[in-house]
Amino acid sequence: MKNTYFTPGPAELYPTFYQHLQTALDEQIGSISHRSQKFRDIYKHTDEQLRILLDIPATHGIFFTGSASEVWERILLNCVEHESFHLVNGSFSRKFYDYAQSLHKYAHLYEKPFGEGFDYADVEVPEYAELVCVTHNETSSGVQMRPAEIHKLKRKYSKKLFCVDIVSSAPYPDLDFSIIDSAFFSVQKAFGMPAGLGVWIAGKSCLEKAERLQRYDSMTIGAHHTLPTLWKNYQTFETPATPNVLAIYILGKIAEDFNRIGIDTIRRQTEEKARMLYKFLDNHADYEPFVSEERHRSQTVIVAKTKQPSADVINAAKQANMIVGSGYGKFKESQIRIANFPATTIEQVTALIDQLKK
Ligand SMILES: *Cc1c(COP(=O)(O)O)cnc(C)c1O
Repeated sequence: MKNTYFTPGPAELYPTFYQHLQTALDEQIGSISHRSQKFRDIYKHTDEQLRILLDIPATHGIFFTGSASEVWERILLNCVEHESFHLVNGSFSRKFYDYAQSLHKYAHLYEKPFGEGFDYADVEVPEYAELVCVTHNETSSGVQMRPAEIHKLKRKYSKKLFCVDIVSSAPYPDLDFSIIDSAFFSVQKAFGMPAGLGVWIAGKSCLEKAERLQRYDSMTIGAHHTLPTLWKNYQTFETPATPNVLAIYILGKIAEDFNRIGIDTIRRQTEEKARMLYKFLDNHADYEPFVSEERHRSQTVIVAKTKQPSADVINAAKQANMIVGSGYGKFKESQIRIANFPATTIEQVTALIDQLKK
């Protein structure tokens, strides 16, 4: 019997993945040139489908990287001259901040304990911060920051560039790209694909900043895939170097599948499954949601405290062919993490809840 992966990335593959992979192999996509019309058509198709899915306007380009964490470095190099500002409440948002320090940016942080979230009202952005780095869904702790709160913050600090990590939640968050300058994700989370492709959405405001920094003699915006280089190639749906053509093709197909279902339906199903899981955790004596504030509870990565050692719960689920994630870092033994991505159905979530009850 096959396992169902409720792990928050790599995760359960989206059911249509196999068929798209087969078609890609039949069409010999692994051998085509990335300077061919066939590749340009693939890039264009993926671009179109992601635009529809995430409501991305023409002011923003869509670029491909090796991973999401690569985008941390790209955006810090391309969009920060001196100072960045980071909302940190877990391991992934912390790593974004660490990257800024490694790149010798003056990185400010506003940190909250693991399991707590941010609201518009408690955030004060330092005066000289150029880029505000927000993690929509902190995968390590299962905390989300609601898009409405992110939008209010951007409106208050409209001159600053805003970049949102939507790695473990896209396509769920309904970001308003008429004000959000940049966002990024990778495909092994909610898009249900194997790892190996990052997607970077960046607006003209980011490009302008990168071009300005590039003109300063003493400033480097990096050598590998600078935003101006990515943007220039993007004009003809090309990439600076040989990209992961296979993954770009399949991502376009899965985004098309999502669009056929409709983003509203996908978001509703996500919320429905999250409601089922949180309700179960709230009512069962052996579990408790880790995030106490309801508005901060992630809809896509649900973290629970377990009364028993989490390894026992995880092993019992594994016997029933359901793979659940362990807690992150020091919470490894006392928590479990359950991904709630489009690849798992209401029926599968029901089966998981029945298993956890045992
Ligand atoms: C997984 C994850 C990343 C890193 O993505 P990679 O594809 O492994 O580089 C970054 N941010 C968040 C919130 C994540 O969940």
